[in-house]
Amino acid sequence: MSSQEAQNEAVLIDGMGRRIVNLRISVTDRCNFRCTYCMPADNVEFMDRVELLSFEEIVRVANVVAKLGINRLRLTGGEPTMRKGLPVLVKMLSEVEGIQDIAMTTNAFFLKEHAQALKDAGLKRLNVSLDALDPDKFRDVNRRDCLDQVLEGLKAAADAGFKSIKINAVAVRNFSETEILKLIEMGRSDGFEIRFIEFMPLDSDQIWERDKVLFGHEIIDLIKEKYELIPITDSLEIGPASEYNFADGKGKIGVITAVSNPFCDHCNRIRMTADGKLRTCLFSTQEYDLKTLIRSKATDQDIVDVILDAVAKKEPGHKINLDDFERPVRAMHAIGG
Ligand code: SAM
Ligand code: SF4
Repeated sequence: MSSQEAQNEAVLIDGMGRRIVNLRISVTDRCNFRCTYCMPADNVEFMDRVELLSFEEIVRVANVVAKLGINRLRLTGGEPTMRKGLPVLVKMLSEVEGIQDIAMTTNAFFLKEHAQALKDAGLKRLNVSLDALDPDKFRDVNRRDCLDQVLEGLKAAADAGFKSIKINAVAVRNFSETEILKLIEMGRSDGFEIRFIEFMPLDSDQIWERDKVLFGHEIIDLIKEKYELIPITDSLEIGPASEYNFADGKGKIGVITAVSNPFCDHCNRIRMTADGKLRTCLFSTQEYDLKTLIRSKATDQDIVDVILDAVAKKEPGHKINLDDFERPVRAMHAIGG
């Protein structure tokens, strides 16, 4: 092993001493939904298909980062299940040495068809986005009238036997309040952890305002009116959510206080967009162009060098709460949430 290779075998540690073990891979910016907090209602300009990394190109990056200590991958988008042949990619990624966990975030619309194939290919965990159980509210926020199909997708995923299924609900003031107890009651009876994510300024329509965020502490207070909650303080994993067990032992919930109390100090992830741009934060204003490197016959070491440089400069934290906050040019669907 050369000294350069030996150096690369070291773990990825950023300038703040955070160890990076998690890569989120967006496989498409396309989506069949038009959630108000993410995409515009119409006239969306999608990436040209030739710009999307091929499966082989994605797997090449996965191999490179796995040698740098990344052991967890999450597929996202846009809607990842819109990418044709996704189980093939999952299988290819599951064969990358060093990758211990592959998860996916999805709106569940296509899970009825694909859940089993994805599970069989090696996908271990799912996060399903579901903001409302009232069909009218579902349609209002997702701009699609298909709650039933999403619930069928969720059921198909549960039947397929994934290791964990969590439900993500974006928490928007004057919208989510009526859905919180309904969602957690479904979670408690069907075995899903429900996680509420504070609405972040990543929507294409740019309607975000601090007043539109339903804060994590308010959600917890609302739940506590009906249920006793016990904060989980001994979790083996440090993740973005503050989690609570129900005191009666039936399930748990989480809040991701991305706005009111960001978890940036513990962030262990980097992201790659569907067109092969490396981002070190959801809110990055700088990207690193891995696709051009890959397509210009760069060596793996060239790719490693760019990743090491990017990670060294990973943002200490996002600046939503600061005066000099700058919205990223890309909206959430084009970054990969
Ligand atoms: N289409 C898939 C889905 O919705 O699950 C994956 C991509 S989506 C961009 C990933 C996650 O980001 C979803 O859980 C979604 O609810 C969340 N999200 C999108 N826009 C958001 C925003 N402005 N603030 C907070 N979460 C957001
Ligand atoms: Fe599509 Fe997911 Fe964005 Fe909703 S949040 S528009 S499902 S990418």
